[in-house]
Amino acid sequence: MVKKTVRDIDLRGKRVLVRVDFNVPLTAASEVADDTRIRAVLPTLAYLKEQGARIILVSHLGRPKGKVKEELRLDPVARRLGKLLGEKVTKVDTCIGPEAEQAAAALAPGQVLLLENVRFYPEEEKNDPDFARRLAALAEVYVNDAFGTAHRAHASTAGVAAYLPAVAGFLMEKEITFLRRVLESPERPLVAVLGGAKVSDKIGVIQNLLGRVDSLLIGGGMGNTFLAAKGYAVGRSLLEEDKIGLAGELLAAAAARGMALLVPEDVVVAKEATAEAPRQTVGVDEIPAEAMVCDIGPATAAKYAAVIAGARTVVWNGPMGIFEIEPFAAGTRRIAEAVAACPGLTVVGGGDSVAAVEQMGLAERISHLSTGGGASLEFLEGRTLPGVAALLDA
Ligand code: ADP
Ligand code: MG
Repeated sequence: MVKKTVRDIDLRGKRVLVRVDFNVPLTAASEVADDTRIRAVLPTLAYLKEQGARIILVSHLGRPKGKVKEELRLDPVARRLGKLLGEKVTKVDTCIGPEAEQAAAALAPGQVLLLENVRFYPEEEKNDPDFARRLAALAEVYVNDAFGTAHRAHASTAGVAAYLPAVAGFLMEKEITFLRRVLESPERPLVAVLGGAKVSDKIGVIQNLLGRVDSLLIGGGMGNTFLAAKGYAVGRSLLEEDKIGLAGELLAAAAARGMALLVPEDVVVAKEATAEAPRQTVGVDEIPAEAMVCDIGPATAAKYAAVIAGARTVVWNGPMGIFEIEPFAAGTRRIAEAVAACPGLTVVGGGDSVAAVEQMGLAERISHLSTGGGASLEFLEGRTLPGVAALLDA
């Protein structure tokens, strides 16, 4: 599944349609609140410019559901991109048709054009072939650098590849390379840390990783369902009763393989998930009936950290506790520090997990922070991402 990239194709003077993920948060005044996703594609844009390509960017923003939403126009994004590039970025109000065609035709080598929010068109999410063909008609080459939407088979993420030679940008390449190294050729021991809210969100990931990893460390809300499967009472904790049986099967499958599937031994509990609520650390066999599990305990965190310290490859998805509330962030922080300190290859995926690592100031010390929450999860589930599959094989 090695894919061609911008390095493998002639881009000199070509008009290049680049799918980017500029789905950035906006302020109330409609300015870009966080430009991480815009900065993430600058390496690809710099390379395309160097090659003298004429660059046509296409992205979605928010969920306009096939209708024009004034507050979701890409003008603020064009302004911020222009600032980052130090040049004017032309923005048009359409993606197909005469206005877009004329603007694309008028591009000089190295110039950048940004099309309108592609999800203003209902055809985008339907992957309408005619819409894809008209989008493709603007350019001679297609580059996908939007890993965050690679799990969607939309016109601008997959459909256009039927009409143009399609290659990966550097961001896409980096995502695929790191995630593949975890799944296909990890240096061992390979340790997976899984947490977050629910087992049901991560079943596919657990199942796919179970046969690949040396240790699987479970925390977060989903840990409660595993604790229940082991027969512990979890009080008023977040619990998926209908997944207790499945958690039991996963524990049994891991035991049959002789694989270490670790669940918390101690937890931080409180009557309410608030910063003010009195809290205590208890063993998992003594969770009070009126309490809820809000974080893994220090003994569990230390044990997990020791496993991570001995890993050559770590993949982490899902916080260990309700880290948004400071008193319940300790478990997640301890794990984040352990992952940051691990000398092996470390990959963190999932929107909240990446946010936690960034908030804790540890982002620089992780080998790869995946920019695509849903896409990285589907990748870890072992599923083929339509936006990746559509690219030319190397
Ligand atoms: P990611 O976005 O990294 O994939 P998830 O979205 O699956 O992670 O889960 C993140 C959420 O899980 C956070 O909002 C966090 O508060 C919540 N969470 C973690 N531990 C618990 C817990 N013990 N009880 C309830 N919610 C939890
Ligand atoms: Mg999340």
